[in-house]
Amino acid sequence: DNATYDFVIVGSGPSGSALANRLSENPKWSILLLEAGEEPNWVTDIPMACGALEYSDYNWGYTCEPQSGFCRNCEDGIMQYPHGNVLGGSSVINYMVYTRGNKLDFDRWAAMGNPGWSHDDVLPYFLKSESAHLAVKDDEYHNNNGPLSVSDVPYRSKLADVYVKASQEAGHPYVDYNGKNQIGVSYVQTTTKNGGRSDAEKSYLRPIKNRKNIKIQKASRATKILINSNSKSAYGVEYIHGGKKYRVFATKEVISSAGSLNSPQLLMLSGIGPKTHLKQFGIPVKSDLPVGRKMYDHAIFPGIAFQLNDSIPINLIEEIIDPFTYPKYLKGKGLLTSISGVEAINYIKTNISTDSEDSYPDIELFMFGLSQAADNGMIIRRAFNVDHNTYNKVFKSLESKYAYQVFPILLHPKSLGRIDLRSANPLDPPKFYANFFTDPENKDVATLIAGIRELQRINKTPTMQKYNATVVRTPLPGCEKVEFDSDEYWECAIRGVVSASYHQTSTCKMGPKNDTEAVVDHKLRVH
Ligand SMILES: Cc1cc2nc3c(=O)[nH]c(=O)nc-3n(C[C@H](O)[C@H](O)[C@H](O)COP(=O)(O)OP(=O)(O)OC[C@H]3O[C@@H](n4cnc5c(N)ncnc54)[C@H](O)[C@@H]3O)c2cc1C
Repeated sequence: DNATYDFVIVGSGPSGSALANRLSENPKWSILLLEAGEEPNWVTDIPMACGALEYSDYNWGYTCEPQSGFCRNCEDGIMQYPHGNVLGGSSVINYMVYTRGNKLDFDRWAAMGNPGWSHDDVLPYFLKSESAHLAVKDDEYHNNNGPLSVSDVPYRSKLADVYVKASQEAGHPYVDYNGKNQIGVSYVQTTTKNGGRSDAEKSYLRPIKNRKNIKIQKASRATKILINSNSKSAYGVEYIHGGKKYRVFATKEVISSAGSLNSPQLLMLSGIGPKTHLKQFGIPVKSDLPVGRKMYDHAIFPGIAFQLNDSIPINLIEEIIDPFTYPKYLKGKGLLTSISGVEAINYIKTNISTDSEDSYPDIELFMFGLSQAADNGMIIRRAFNVDHNTYNKVFKSLESKYAYQVFPILLHPKSLGRIDLRSANPLDPPKFYANFFTDPENKDVATLIAGIRELQRINKTPTMQKYNATVVRTPLPGCEKVEFDSDEYWECAIRGVVSASYHQTSTCKMGPKNDTEAVVDHKLRVH
């Protein structure tokens, strides 16, 4: 209590952990890392368990505000918004897919007035962080002595091989999607090591826990950043630990790395945010900035499935009850090393993209070696918001069949969400408005449909047809009246079942001072 450090960091996800690690390399600096969550346990190590972790205390348990334009077939019409509440942040509960941004994403940020963020600028940091164990890789884009392990999945279903071959047959080149070219197909690259999860806590915090100049304080929830009204500089943090309020002070910097959902809340509670919104809750305004006014995420469509005529998908239940499955995992092998069944990824530029660059994909296809019926509807369908009724009508019949799913993911959404405070009480969750599929030209839906069409094309290749890959034609409840497989049908289905990817971004947008949407500058300092 009342202690003073050089740096106070709020939040121990990948950003906060990496910062804590790097800043504490300097023995002259003292660092406090505040984290609301507790230590992760061994279950979080098991890649196959990742879909279940959002039902644990390691999740903040957020949900979006219900909205009429999407999620009609989601449980209670509500989209979940899981977010890691644990040392290591969301990297401890995430799906472990290792994908860097497209080169053009970074180059375009830099061109928007953010020096230091071009692909050439950031690549050295990706290299520095990584220890790659990949069978196929573009060597100049990878490194093998960083703290974060990136690996192929040791387990692979026969279906994964078939799907990758079929994609190639459909014209998708095999690529290292974190290398020279992103567009194409690849087995998934994962943040795992020897078949177990590699996360921020293991990579960045565990190795430094004996450093004398850093204090890592768990179960400590920041409620306010203390800001000097005259100088506008942050000088400390208020937080709650064990039901009591404390204050700590920083001589150099207060860093909010509480994630893209909680950082905007913390800033607003501290008086940094849209003036009228803060006044509504009686929060004294320190700086009138558009915090939380923007939010994008990658919408996922989990509503298309394919039936096959042979036992090439993952047989989840049979493998889980196999007494050798856990011993195999302990040796870094077998089903439990699979990241919830995600096996391959395609990046595609659909035929409706209007981007000037051929190397800029607008859809990602997430290939699962199983369907949501593989666990008899217990976890996978819930993790992707499919409600009980929809599951029973559309997917349940697949429990006794060979089936698999590929989820199209929208890469560059036009629809704009936002985050509002619910109240001035820091313990109240903010209000999340995803606003999916609200762009005036309906381009987001159209792009997802274009992704579905490409997926159908892959399933029509001779390689997939050898297994008689056939789309499941039972319509989603509410879409029975439109012709199955018409664009109208897929729009109805997309608006019916959708999941966020939990890649929420832009809630404290980076940009130069003259960018009216920007909250932080290119050095991530609040304007
Ligand atoms: C279920 C799920 C699946 C995902 N799958 C993938 C994937 O496969 N691949 C991928 O690249 N990305 C994935 N992501 C996204 C990825 O995990 C995040 O982009 C990344 O973790 C963000 O890092 P961060 O440090 O910004 O925030 P976070 O990882 O969210 O960390 C923020 C930390 O701050 C703490 N915190 C928040 N508020 C406070 C407070 N007031 N006081 C103290 N501490 C606080 C939180 O408890 C948390 O530990 C997924 C995310 C989720 C939730």
